[in-house]
Amino acid sequence: MKRRVCLLGATGSIGESTLDVIARHPDRFEVAALAAHRSVDKLAAACARFRPAHAALLDAAAADALRARLRAEGIATQVHAGAAGLATVAALPEADTVLAAIVGAAGLAPTLAAARAGKRILLANKEALVIGGSLFMQAVREGGATLLPVDSEHNAIFQCLPPGYAGPHSAGVRRILLTASGGPFRSRRPEELADVTPDEACAHPNWSMGRKISVDSATMMNKGLEVIEAHWLFGAPSDAIEVVLHPQSVVHSLVEYADGSVLAQLGHPDMRTPIAQALAHPDRIDAGVARLDLAALAALSFERPDGARFPCLALAYRALEAGGTAPAVLNAANEVAVAAFLAGGARFTDIAAACAEALERVAAERADSLATALAADARSRAVARAFLDTRAAAPRRGLAGAH
Ligand code: NDP
Ligand code: MG
Repeated sequence: MKRRVCLLGATGSIGESTLDVIARHPDRFEVAALAAHRSVDKLAAACARFRPAHAALLDAAAADALRARLRAEGIATQVHAGAAGLATVAALPEADTVLAAIVGAAGLAPTLAAARAGKRILLANKEALVIGGSLFMQAVREGGATLLPVDSEHNAIFQCLPPGYAGPHSAGVRRILLTASGGPFRSRRPEELADVTPDEACAHPNWSMGRKISVDSATMMNKGLEVIEAHWLFGAPSDAIEVVLHPQSVVHSLVEYADGSVLAQLGHPDMRTPIAQALAHPDRIDAGVARLDLAALAALSFERPDGARFPCLALAYRALEAGGTAPAVLNAANEVAVAAFLAGGARFTDIAAACAEALERVAAERADSLATALAADARSRAVARAFLDTRAAAPRRGLAGAH
């Protein structure tokens, strides 16, 4: 039977890679629904190509424009709008699989709806797990959903874990090793980082991705969020998750066993591999990715991350260890600071400073409901905005080496 896929974040980088894989296997997959924020042109083109029964845009005016466009083109896709529209398509009875690829906290509500509806969730939207944590995992359990990681590191770990795995120290697993490329600033002197531009930060050496995650990779907050993501996905405490720099991005992550064996998953840095693995699991399908030529690669190297250049990594460990709403606070401050940096309203180094300030100023509470997590998210955004406003108002000189 064909898998019927709802794709949240259909117009983004992961969304486009997913549609590329799906288009290669019309015998296996069918697009049931496509959703995004407000990219009318891209969503209309995807609806014309894949003919889903449903589409959704968060922005109501954009949803009206999409509806008019599809009607004019004779495409019978039903268009939903707003947060309710996204939740509707995420829980559609006629879809069995939901690929969650909205960027940021905005993805949490629809992905939770998919979990409660018992879907097979292919998760790229790591921020949902960072904010939602225990609530999200509880919704997966109670809804009878299945959670498969799409993030390349977590997908690699998933592939290297043994059957019967139930957390480190079960099934002989000792540790999880997450690889990180180090991004475009791996070798930059820390004192140069205050003046880097958004385009430099988004020029990732190995991966082509959306702008927010590209900046996260440059600060290594992405790896910090992935440590928290690994904690929830694999039930691992922070001291069983280690980050290692691997500039070539060929080894996507590793699992260390009690007997000293270390299993790794390798491949080209192309998200179509983990997407195809998760879409077809337990089968294997062609993802359109070139074969790995080890001899041509010649060398793979590994280093320890530099804490001075990448303070965001330590902040993420700190948030994970503090627990409760602390990861939601970290994520929210990061989203605000990255958006400000991309808009030219903050320096690259302000991102880590804003996150540290939010963790300091917003006390962690028990994350016992979605309302608590979202309240912490809102408080953190306010603290980060106020902090960045103060920085922007301060004279530039003297800021460069402030942290
Ligand atoms: P992009 O910025 O390329 O795409 C984001 C997608 O989310 C777009 O479809 C956008 O729609 C949609 N979107 C944004 N805000 C909202 C909102 N408020 N409501 C509904 N939809 C929204 O991001 P990526 O594809 O790079 O990343 C997506 C997620 O996957 C992130 O969480 C990222 O961390 C994760 N990820 C990405 C990887 C990559 O290689 N790109 C690798 C591993 C994980 P619109 O076009 O209308 O704005
Ligand atoms: Mg990743």
